[in-house]
Amino acid sequence: MQERGWTNFHAHTNVDPCCEPELTPALYAGLVGDEMRRVVITDHGFMHYFLHETDLLWSGRWMEDPEHFDAAREIGNANLRAGIDRIRNLKNAHVFAGIETDMMRDGRLTHDPGFTNEFDVILCGLHFAPWIEKLESEEARERAWLDFVDALLNTPEVDVFAHPFRWLATVNKGRISDDAIRRVLRWVEECGVALELNSNPNTPETAEVRMLRIVADRGLPVVIGTDSHAHAQITNFSLARQRLALAGLTPQDLYMPEVEDFIARKGRRQSMASRPVVDRSGRPITP
Ligand SMILES: [Zn+2]
Ligand SMILES: [Zn+2]
Repeated sequence: MQERGWTNFHAHTNVDPCCEPELTPALYAGLVGDEMRRVVITDHGFMHYFLHETDLLWSGRWMEDPEHFDAAREIGNANLRAGIDRIRNLKNAHVFAGIETDMMRDGRLTHDPGFTNEFDVILCGLHFAPWIEKLESEEARERAWLDFVDALLNTPEVDVFAHPFRWLATVNKGRISDDAIRRVLRWVEECGVALELNSNPNTPETAEVRMLRIVADRGLPVVIGTDSHAHAQITNFSLARQRLALAGLTPQDLYMPEVEDFIARKGRRQSMASRPVVDRSGRPITP
């Protein structure tokens, strides 16, 4: 059977200075086809709010001192408005407007809550946690990270936990205990949040492969994203395919929700109950 192309749930544009300047929503629209059936543009919330203060942005201090977010609210909202409009103005049925938001230490997200219901999909990732990085031992960092992830998964506005193990793998030199992976996946199952299989080479191979085996076994929801910052990465899912193969799985072993499953949460994102519920075999249960 000819395999259908995937929906790319994680894609950045030139709003982000780390991206190639040619990466516009229109470029993505032009690349929709056999490889990438649909795409959700998910630029960083923090980029919209802190781009005008690059020192602050890259220090990650706003995670711990969320008053920086309040101070940048007006400019950030205007940037976010422009970003969403740029996508919507394409009027392309295969290009969706999402966001990659962060949860600050006070539990708020790095986008104004007034925008929550405008997004088709809300990804949440962890990019900075200076207070965890400062801890002395690997074990202490893993414990503090688990506390943070627990709170993130219990934030009802979040649809997808992006690159779940990448940040911890970076600070703990790739070492992540089986216990940590199992705990996170148990919470994921309880909360109904979807996980991302991230196809960017900066994601940790062993953690992702261990994650995929459990995910397939329990029927947990997974979406795939290329996390593209360059033209060549946009439709390149090869790493995701490689990791599935390493886990001994095929895409048919996974429960992969579609954009519509998240759009269905619009207006109901204040409640965890609106997250899609799945049974153990990965079939969505319609309430
Ligand atoms: Zn990210
Ligand atoms: Zn990203």
